[in-house]
Amino acid sequence: MTDRKTELQTLKADLQARLRRLQAHQRREDGAINRDFEEQAVETQNDEVVDGLEQESRLELSQVEHALERIDAGEGDDCERCGNPIDPRRLQILPYTTLCVKCAEQV
Ligand SMILES: [Zn+2]
Repeated sequence: MTDRKTELQTLKADLQARLRRLQAHQRREDGAINRDFEEQAVETQNDEVVDGLEQESRLELSQVEHALERIDAGEGDDCERCGNPIDPRRLQILPYTTLCVKCAEQV
C-alpha cells in the first residue's frame, strides 16, 4: 500500500507536469513541449488532440487525487461502492482505481 501511494504521488506529479505543458502549448508558448510529450502530440500539432489529452489528464488526475484521499483515510484497498476489497492485481494495473472489478463493470 505504501508502494501504491508512492506510485500515485509520482503519477500525480507527472499528470500535473503534463497539464502544465498542455496549457503552455495552448497558449503557444515556445519550447513548451518537451520530449516525453512529443511522441503523443507534437507530430499532429492538433489543438483538438491537445484538448483531448488535457481532458484525459484532468480526469486521470482527479482519479489519482481521489484514490490518494482514500488511501490516507485508510480505505484505499476497499471498493468505494460495495466496500469489498479490491483485487491487488487490479490495483497494480490501475493504481488510481477506487472500484472493484464488479462495480467498475456496472459503471
Ligand atoms: Zn465493488
